[in-house]
Amino acid sequence: MTTTSTTNVPAVTPHRTKTPRPTLELLKRAYRNPLTIIGTVLLAVLVLTALFAGVLAPYKPTEIAGFPLLPPFSEGFILGTDNLGRDTLSRVMFGSQMSLAVGVFGAGMGILIGILIGSLAGYFGGWVDTLLMRIAELFQIIPALIIALVAAALFGGSMQLVILVIGLTFWPDTARIVRAQILTLKERHFVEAAKVAGFKPRRIILSDILPNALPPVIVQAALLVGWAILVEAGLSFLGVGDVNVPTWGQMLSSAQVSLSQSPWLSIIPGLAVVLSVLGFNFVADGFNNALNPRRLAVEVDYRKLNAARVKKLQAAGEGVAAEVQSVESQLAHATDETAAEPLLIVDDLVFNFTVGGREVQAVNGVSFHVNRGECVGIVGESGSGKSTIGRVLAQLLPPVEVSRFEGRASLDDEDLLGLSGRKADRVRRDGISMVFQDPMSHLNPTMKIGAQIEEAFGGTISGAEARERIDELLERVDLPRSLKIADRYPHQLSGGQRQRAMIALALAMKPKLLIADEPTTALDASVQASVVETLLKLHHEEGLSILLISHDFGLIANMAERVYVMRQGKFVESADVIDLFDNPQHEYTKSLLAAVPGFKANEGSEA
Ligand code: ADP
Ligand code: MG
Repeated sequence: MTTTSTTNVPAVTPHRTKTPRPTLELLKRAYRNPLTIIGTVLLAVLVLTALFAGVLAPYKPTEIAGFPLLPPFSEGFILGTDNLGRDTLSRVMFGSQMSLAVGVFGAGMGILIGILIGSLAGYFGGWVDTLLMRIAELFQIIPALIIALVAAALFGGSMQLVILVIGLTFWPDTARIVRAQILTLKERHFVEAAKVAGFKPRRIILSDILPNALPPVIVQAALLVGWAILVEAGLSFLGVGDVNVPTWGQMLSSAQVSLSQSPWLSIIPGLAVVLSVLGFNFVADGFNNALNPRRLAVEVDYRKLNAARVKKLQAAGEGVAAEVQSVESQLAHATDETAAEPLLIVDDLVFNFTVGGREVQAVNGVSFHVNRGECVGIVGESGSGKSTIGRVLAQLLPPVEVSRFEGRASLDDEDLLGLSGRKADRVRRDGISMVFQDPMSHLNPTMKIGAQIEEAFGGTISGAEARERIDELLERVDLPRSLKIADRYPHQLSGGQRQRAMIALALAMKPKLLIADEPTTALDASVQASVVETLLKLHHEEGLSILLISHDFGLIANMAERVYVMRQGKFVESADVIDLFDNPQHEYTKSLLAAVPGFKANEGSEA
């Protein structure tokens, strides 16, 4: 039996068998940074002080408690007294209430306005986007302080005014972030599919886009509260605001008269402002860094990339289609006596990029093809460039700076890489589906499995009919109806069920080619074999064409008919799987095979 061999091969890529909850993971990552911890402590002190100032402060903020201008640590006044003899400690404590209130409400209002405007701009695009972004720019160049001073002169100072001014002037950054997030997310196919399915914009924004755009907005919110505290201090320093409510800004302002005599009167509220703002910044920073790795999976602007390539090809006087055709006919001659019909043809693909100033020559001139109904494997050690091939073909790439991108690819006679715009998108969307090692990052965490599959139908069917088709699809990947997988969210599934759901979602689009990139690597050994069985069933019984990418020769041997061996961006050998096992030519292939337990016993197996 060859099935067992897949389970014993030591994994080259590090993998997890359990996916931790994303929020927990995020918290862990954020709090690995000591600054996040310091920031959180500062904020805890601020919030507790504001909440319990009435209980903790030794005096009332307006109470004349002792002699004026006492230095710190005199006569029981830890932080001394001000020019009227009021206790500085008590005033700083009560001042935190105003700072926090203005910070939270002002920034909260700014965030809400920002989300609203950013959503509208990002979702509708076109002139709506242009108009709203111009307005945002306008608000960004008018400083909040000036607006506040003018407003105070017109309407008199009050706390509500300060909050209003902060809210009305602090939204552009948030709007930009939400807009950018939406522009990125909009391209992802679960959103596209929702649109095709004819959902109303409000529903798409609320259920598909916003939950995904939220994390960076939360980071922005923390930053904004810090800024709002600073602005509040500035405004009350300048006399805008309610003079009867103690604030840090007012304390700074009134300390001016005795600056040389009692510098601590300025230093203490100043320090309170600085520490609070730092607290918010540290926390925002910590979470921002923790969030960053997750952003790796966004798509690049393929159109721009392609446009440059197409221009180059056209300049050389070669029609893209003509090239693909000639490659295809060459291949047809080269390979064929058995009238195999080529489905995917890749010719001399080169894909290099730079990351952090380092040049990565991920794919360096590979040519291969997959015939209709065939399962073809690409095998090679981790980092050899296998996934990059899959991602380039499916046009799903991490945001890298591409330094060299050449070659041609066609799927079912249609050019995959040379064309730009809607046509290329359609060829890819209708033609290729991809299954990854980590389904969790490719399923929409905020939607039930059934709803995600229904979106993939593209609005062609709905209601009971859709439900029936969803159940059928899930049954095809061996998820029986009794499990009610359609009604569950991705996090409510086991690893194996999740991978099956991902395969069902991929099949819902009726792809001509399924690219499976390490489809079983992240699964427990016992589950691996059963997912392989599901894929094999789809391949043999339904004729699904598969490009299987894996470091695991055992898996490839089980599933693929032909295999390409990849090393450092190039193919070193290609053959029928059985020939390769019987008679490997390249030393590298031999070393890969040697790593497969029981390899000798596999000779002449049914694969
Ligand atoms: P494989 O799938 O065979 O393990 P990949 O195609 O993922 O290999 O990677 C090919 C090369 O590109 C490797 O050198 C890898 O380190 C590099 N690489 C892939 N993705 C990234 C990324 N997002 N950032 C930096 N380097 C990357
Ligand atoms: Mg890979």
